[in-house]
Amino acid sequence: MGHKKLYLKTFGCQMNVYDSERISHVLAARNYRLVVNPSEADLIFLNTCSVREKPEQKVYSALGRYRAFKKKNSKLIIGVGGCLAQQEGEGFLKRFPHVDFVIGTKEFKRIDEILDDLEDSGKRSAATHLNGRVDPYASLPFSPSPSKVAAFVSIMQGCDNFCSYCIVPFVRGREVSRPSQEVLEEIRVLAAKGVKEVTLLGQNVNSYGKTKPGELDFAGMLKAVQEIAGIERIRFTTSHPKDLSRPLIEAFGRLPKLCEHIHLPVQSGSDRILKRMNRGYSGEEYLKKISRLRQSCPRIRITTDMIVGFPAEEEEDFRASLEMIEEIQFDDLFSFKYSDRPGTQATHFPEKVMEEVSQRRLTELQTLQRKITLKRNKAWEREKVEVLVEGRSKARAEDNMGRTRANHIVNFPGKPFAAGSLVTVKIQKAYAHSLRGESPQDSLPEDGNIVKRGKSVSRGKENL
Ligand code: SF4
Repeated sequence: MGHKKLYLKTFGCQMNVYDSERISHVLAARNYRLVVNPSEADLIFLNTCSVREKPEQKVYSALGRYRAFKKKNSKLIIGVGGCLAQQEGEGFLKRFPHVDFVIGTKEFKRIDEILDDLEDSGKRSAATHLNGRVDPYASLPFSPSPSKVAAFVSIMQGCDNFCSYCIVPFVRGREVSRPSQEVLEEIRVLAAKGVKEVTLLGQNVNSYGKTKPGELDFAGMLKAVQEIAGIERIRFTTSHPKDLSRPLIEAFGRLPKLCEHIHLPVQSGSDRILKRMNRGYSGEEYLKKISRLRQSCPRIRITTDMIVGFPAEEEEDFRASLEMIEEIQFDDLFSFKYSDRPGTQATHFPEKVMEEVSQRRLTELQTLQRKITLKRNKAWEREKVEVLVEGRSKARAEDNMGRTRANHIVNFPGKPFAAGSLVTVKIQKAYAHSLRGESPQDSLPEDGNIVKRGKSVSRGKENL
């Protein structure tokens, strides 16, 4: 019997990318193979996001389009997973009669049973238990065939922080850290299959191990990944400032494979708004963490998230956010307008900010940050940086594309380097979202072997 065709579409964050990968392993064991065209599929699975209004609407419009496929092929199975599935549950089956099953963020293990029921009796079902602190990945098949040199690895799920605007604790449940031995074994398997860079994932990744006495803490996990042969680079996301411990800050100055980039969402520069957001730190405390990070690793690249238009945000609160951006000079920033999310505390806060005010603030903030980002990127011009080649550039097919340790995208000419090569590139020009490099003088041997150059290659750890 030939393979069955699976169309898997992922919305939202890197955690969903990882979950989709694990779901594809479960379905591969049921003889499904990925296809890129939904009209060919025997099974369409949407892994959804509900962190803001926009990604939610994208899912609904996609499901609207797939109704036609179901009309053409009544045997087509349509399933929905991820945060929006967790949020809506049975509601999805009522609202979309052409959806056959709904699987929540902690129920991956039930996919087989659900598909068996569907195939045997046509029974449509929704499985959305959040199961307390149960590891959703435990005993799931893991059969990666990485097509890229960089891979995501989820080390924990869920969040206990309950920031007043955030839906994550309601759709991802309580924090649960995966057993470190399982995570490390997974990374060894990936390294053996040619992966050079791993990004450790968690909604609140730097509180790893907190709810598991005797387990490694996050700095301990980083140190253990550092020991894995074949892995050249370590990244992690997303961190919470209140869990940025001293050992973690020092790890940036100590662990050679730990890349010099941290994404540390601040969300607002106003203490009044940070309090209403239930973020658990003040502007002053956040500033102190940033300066300690820069002491430990002077060229560390720092990116953040900011929300504008949070309920009761006054002009002076917004000004405080702009002042913080000016003071810290973030390397880049992702900014969003506040939107109500079902079940969150802030949804009930009365003083909503008018849409046009939020939009004006968002534009002003993005204009300020764009100038800072370009200035920060320009500081890398004429520098020699280590680039992990990922493949050909999307912009110009004749160029190589890769990333610096600080997570800049670099496009550079010259002979094609194999994905996974570590190349020294001199930065010629900086742009808002990428850097352009010169063709590497002493290019690597054809087989793309990794070469550690004795020359002073800027790795952000000046005293290396
Ligand atoms: S720490 Fe992050 S994931 Fe957790 S509730 Fe706050 S914003 Fe959401």
